[in-house]
Amino acid sequence: MRHLYVHVPFCQRRCSYCDFSIAVRKRIPAREYVEAVLGELAAVRAAHPGREPEDYGGESLETIYLGGGTPSLLPPEAISALLTSLFDAFRATSSRDALEVTLEANPEDVTLDHATAWRHAGINRVSLGAQSFDDRVLKWMHRSHDASRIGDAVQTLRAVGMDNISLDLIFALPSELERNWARDLDLAADLLPAHLSLYGLTVEERTPLARWISSGATSAADDERYAEEYLLAHMRLADCGYHFYEVSNAARDGRRSRHNSAYWSGRAYLGLGPAAHSFDGRVRRWNRSAWESYRRAVGAGLLAVEVEETLTEEQRELESLYLALRTDAGVPLAALCGPLPPCAAMWVERGWAEVRDQRLACRPEGWLRLDALIRDLTSVGRAG
Ligand code: SF4
Repeated sequence: MRHLYVHVPFCQRRCSYCDFSIAVRKRIPAREYVEAVLGELAAVRAAHPGREPEDYGGESLETIYLGGGTPSLLPPEAISALLTSLFDAFRATSSRDALEVTLEANPEDVTLDHATAWRHAGINRVSLGAQSFDDRVLKWMHRSHDASRIGDAVQTLRAVGMDNISLDLIFALPSELERNWARDLDLAADLLPAHLSLYGLTVEERTPLARWISSGATSAADDERYAEEYLLAHMRLADCGYHFYEVSNAARDGRRSRHNSAYWSGRAYLGLGPAAHSFDGRVRRWNRSAWESYRRAVGAGLLAVEVEETLTEEQRELESLYLALRTDAGVPLAALCGPLPPCAAMWVERGWAEVRDQRLACRPEGWLRLDALIRDLTSVGRAG
């Protein structure tokens, strides 16, 4: 296990589109949370008594990712206590400078004091939930920051020596918002973040957005606009020196997310915290998602796993095909069992994919059709 994900479930309010498993709290139960996560790690170890810390990373631990929820709501002392314990537990203290340690943060939580404390705690990468530079849009999303806080947060992080910054943006918003996507892309690029993650808005059940849509108060963007905005992002960001290395992620100067890249290359990872997932290369596990239920389980010395799934050989192959095609590396032609299948040759002809270095890789137009492409490829496999 060289990659550790820690899920922090707390948010101060629910965003209008969000169906994540979160715990909305005015007061963040930081001490209880840190105890619970460390309790879970102890339970995981107790369940595998023959394993040494090295089996869970040790000197070879490469990334830690504090995701949420809103991890930046944890007081800096709690983040520091959590990371110190994790570095110790994984015997990663001496190698800590070589780790990528990411914190997801809301722009409004980035104060000089917090940023300084995060840096001292070992955080060296921050992913900011920017979403838009339009205050009307941020309000509609129920986000707690306003647009001016995004630039301030970037400057503050740089002032304390943290330059590995990623911004999240959401596109394909309802048309009546008249959101200017090109302007948002330009404002994001002007800040020169090392990394950008772009997500198309999806309508999830039981969210305020789903209710607004079913009452007719708003409507989701159609496929045509989704595609237009996605392709516009590729064009504009390429002009600013960004390279899309995955369907939703672009980096400048090669500063890819090492943590997320591990997921996309099918590597093993350990997830701690409510709703966290773990994968050991063969078995995938999901933790209980509700904070209270998770806390009770680990408080009783139990594992917090709710579901466990052992992937079959066929599932593993399908997943690795899917993950490979999500990235710019694509899939080796050898893995397609021979020459380019006719469906893939057609994508190349249409400009949806290309063959590079004996690998088949999607172009942006192909990433828009990824599910259909995978279906074509796998039905060829089944037929063959
Ligand atoms: S901050 Fe993130 S996790 Fe929290 S409600 Fe908003 S979208 Fe969901």
